[in-house]
Amino acid sequence: MRLLVVEDSPDLSQQLRQSLAEAGFAVDLAMDGEEALHLGNTEPYDAVVLDLGLPRLDGLSVLRRWREADRAMPVILLTARDSWTEKVAGLNAGADDYLAKPFIMAELIARLNALIRRAVGVAKPELVFGEVRVDTAARTVTRAGAPIRVTAMEYGMLAYLALNAGRPVSKTELTEHLYAQDFDRDSNTLEVIAGRIRRKLGDGLIETIRGQGYRMVPPG
Ligand code: CA
Repeated sequence: MRLLVVEDSPDLSQQLRQSLAEAGFAVDLAMDGEEALHLGNTEPYDAVVLDLGLPRLDGLSVLRRWREADRAMPVILLTARDSWTEKVAGLNAGADDYLAKPFIMAELIARLNALIRRAVGVAKPELVFGEVRVDTAARTVTRAGAPIRVTAMEYGMLAYLALNAGRPVSKTELTEHLYAQDFDRDSNTLEVIAGRIRRKLGDGLIETIRGQGYRMVPPG
């Protein structure tokens, strides 16, 4: 899952990038409102973390312009602690959630996971595919009850396909959602990762659809 983090404080911005990357997200950073507006209008983010006080263009204006342009990605605002007016204005401008500063990283990650699930119409954190279970909250995978060790990239691909199960997902789409903007992208890597997932979790889980990409079998 790929995130845009919009935060002008260099310290908090780096801290967010590091913690969210450790939690398995691909992270793009924007340090001002204009850059955020551009990235959010052109890149397919799974969710956005948006600070309100930003140079060049404030966060609320950025959010309003995204929504006016029909950009529908989930947005969580970082607000001042006791400003209920900020929270209300943010939600009314099209935000999906907010978190007051200072916040606990685990809470931000849990909220992001919930927003990302909801955005694709999934309410349950654990997705079941026969004997394979993918827990999108704990980021764990089991097969017939046994924990299966997966790398961050394997988990990322598996979780994206699991949340979009039943529809073909192209390699381009996968690449756009698994790698940050500055990452050296190579779509051949996806075939290698898919191969490793199949070895660990069985052949039947992910189908290759010629010319279209990958499709995870529907849950159940
Ligand atoms: Ca700020």
